[in-house]
Amino acid sequence: MARGFDEILRDVIAGLRTLETLRNREFLHELLLDLVELEQAWRHLDERAAALARRVAELEEKTALAGRLVEDDGALWRPGNEEPGPYCLPCWRKDRKLILLSPAPTGGQPSCSRCRHRP
Ligand SMILES: [Zn+2]
Repeated sequence: MARGFDEILRDVIAGLRTLETLRNREFLHELLLDLVELEQAWRHLDERAAALARRVAELEEKTALAGRLVEDDGALWRPGNEEPGPYCLPCWRKDRKLILLSPAPTGGQPSCSRCRHRP
């Protein structure tokens, strides 16, 4: 596997420390500070990339899910799933949130715990 950018940067920093002499001490110190800053910026971008990858996966899952949802009786259903439904239609349409409707304690129509919708 190829070395990561952070590993390369760490090696460069370690290598530069061995080159330090009285004449180039100040220059190397500045260079090391720049490299540390660069490493922090890289870490931030790496974390951002990971967060975006998670978001893409989440959206892909929702897109795939949207194709399988069936609207019936004012609610959504996932045929063949362990929890087929009913799910809240307004929450899905407005925010792409899949909220399982909770049965009413008194035995009436189930309702959404998020928006209180009752199909
Ligand atoms: Zn709802």
